[in-house]
Amino acid sequence: MRIRFLGTHTAESKSTRLVSFLIDDVMAVEAGSLTSELTFSEQQRISTILLSHGHYDHIRAIPSLAFNNSHRTIKVFAIPETLKVLSSSLLNGAVYPNFADSGSYLGKSVLELCPLEFLQPVEVEGYRILPVPVGHSMPAAGFEIASMDGRRLFYTGDTGPDLSDVWEKIQPHHLIAEMTFPNRLAQMARDTGHLCPQSLAGELAAFKRIKGYLPDCTLIHIMPQFEEEIRAEIEKTAKEFHLPIAFASEGDVIVV
Ligand SMILES: [Zn+2]
Ligand SMILES: [Zn+2]
Repeated sequence: MRIRFLGTHTAESKSTRLVSFLIDDVMAVEAGSLTSELTFSEQQRISTILLSHGHYDHIRAIPSLAFNNSHRTIKVFAIPETLKVLSSSLLNGAVYPNFADSGSYLGKSVLELCPLEFLQPVEVEGYRILPVPVGHSMPAAGFEIASMDGRRLFYTGDTGPDLSDVWEKIQPHHLIAEMTFPNRLAQMARDTGHLCPQSLAGELAAFKRIKGYLPDCTLIHIMPQFEEEIRAEIEKTAKEFHLPIAFASEGDVIVV
């Protein structure tokens, strides 16, 4: 699977974009920056979007992508709670058409909202998606995404620590994890359902204990104001515990 990172931060600026990445150019995971980072023809290749939860930094570009692709249908997969937030906030018809409603724009629905159930795998465009519950400040899912050639990726979405139950259910070759706060804000990270370098190290240690191996790990969802501090802490932690951790920046491509 070819992963192209479009946005790897929690806040938007000239140099930082909201969270989203593409798998093989056709499946988008999160919708923070799907229009700001892609040409119109690149946007047209996206057939499916997976959303981990309903916070703004993850769903923001859904209406603009729908507007730019109103001649076709794009499937949006998420747990029902996320689809409900999306429908009541960005797709409520108040400031833009409701692109999920056939009566609202050009007489057709541009977006097909597809509910996912936790631990019920679905086949989407040749990928197998397993939604797994994670602990965040609203109902949220992580996704194990398997390609036809048997490669598996796990994306945590926004999550706090205590992921042992998640690790039991997956077997990824690669992990894309969130990394929001520096260690000095560990309590805030826990309270708001996020990770910091020391809690990630604990989760990776649990992964190794449970699974007997460690996947390569790429971090996204960085708060720009703490980025330097977080990077220094991760570098130290990775060295100390021999952990294979890297950061993704906007535009980075990895193959997993
Ligand atoms: Zn969130
Ligand atoms: Zn977020």
